Amino acid sequence: MKARYYPNSDFLAANVGNGPSYTWRGIVEARGVLDYGLRRRIGNGHDTLVWGQAWIPGTQTGKVIAPSVTGMEDLTVADLLIPGGGGWDRNLVDSVFLPFERERVLNIRVSSFASPDTWFWDKEKDGEYSVRSAYAALAGHSTSSTETSSWERERWLWNRLWKIPVWPRVKLFFWQLCSEAIATSDNIAARTKGEISPCYFCSSVNESCLHLFRNCSVAAWVWEGLGLNCAEEGEGGGLREWIEACWGNFSMDDCGKFMLGCWAIWECRNKCVFEGTRVEPERIIKRVRDVMVEMGEAEVDSRRRRARERREVANEESEGWQPARGEYVKLNVDAGVKEGEGVGTGAVCRDGQGNILWGVSVAREVTWDPGIAEAVAVLDGLQEALAKGHQHVMLESDLFTSYRNL
Ligand SMILES: [Zn+2]
Repeated sequence: MKARYYPNSDFLAANVGNGPSYTWRGIVEARGVLDYGLRRRIGNGHDTLVWGQAWIPGTQTGKVIAPSVTGMEDLTVADLLIPGGGGWDRNLVDSVFLPFERERVLNIRVSSFASPDTWFWDKEKDGEYSVRSAYAALAGHSTSSTETSSWERERWLWNRLWKIPVWPRVKLFFWQLCSEAIATSDNIAARTKGEISPCYFCSSVNESCLHLFRNCSVAAWVWEGLGLNCAEEGEGGGLREWIEACWGNFSMDDCGKFMLGCWAIWECRNKCVFEGTRVEPERIIKRVRDVMVEMGEAEVDSRRRRARERREVANEESEGWQPARGEYVKLNVDAGVKEGEGVGTGAVCRDGQGNILWGVSVAREVTWDPGIAEAVAVLDGLQEALAKGHQHVMLESDLFTSYRNL
């Protein structure tokens, strides 16, 4: 199809020729819609052409109106930046653009250390999805579109990344790593055209992301210690191929461990560079394990809290719970003791309509008998009520029921 209808141009530049088929006309019309709203969001400017692509915000077409400078048709937005993160090269911008374009261009926040440029949909809020589906449908008809495939890859990575159960800051770091936006020696050199330093861990070769996180002896030690078989994955490819190969083979939990491993290696590398700390792979491994335990505990806590809330609701329903009257609020407290795990206390405060005002729960690693636990739950709840400024509190607790029964 490509050969027949647009022999010399890419998909977004094709026109309806003579005697076009019905299907083709439909595709071109749909493409017109895409063309209308599809814009480039500038990150580092490397993948966006100054002329021909829509990237100027706030204009109808998004494209540069100033005529292209002969011999500079392939100029990218990154070429308009001062190397090394200095922002726009104003002299160059002045010479290329018309005054109203110049202003809009200079207002775009750019950085040579930012993520790659992306497509976005300018016309509606949930645009990303509709562009993806429309684009995928159209790509099924056109023979190739490198933009679509790299975009789809980006989406895959991104979607997976956000589902993996790790701390948001680890996700953020990992996304930067995938976008080659962390300040490794090779990434900096690529942008400043400066020299690459040797690996701060082993000094055997120049520092690159792939070396630091996969090939370095320190990294190999860490992966072995964490039981992740990823030193050999993605051989022959770059960093992204390595990450995708690992993720393809790992369970969700191992993907999380892998991300934490990279994060801890990076943390250790920075301590080594900026604080002169000695490198100890065992400490990197310990750091990953500690964070995993911490995350696991947070998860158990929230699961306990949910179970408690469900139980409270069930209890109240069966016992015909009544809200407080007048200016009172009602405080329900409860405690649970679990062998080997500790004691959890909780309190829920409701207004006269039965609406929950607030709740509090505390987990303690102690061994108390249920009576004590319940008494502490009462204390916890009352303290919180005082702190919240409630003057009139009705309290309900198993403590009173059980002591009354004695
Ligand atoms: Zn090394």
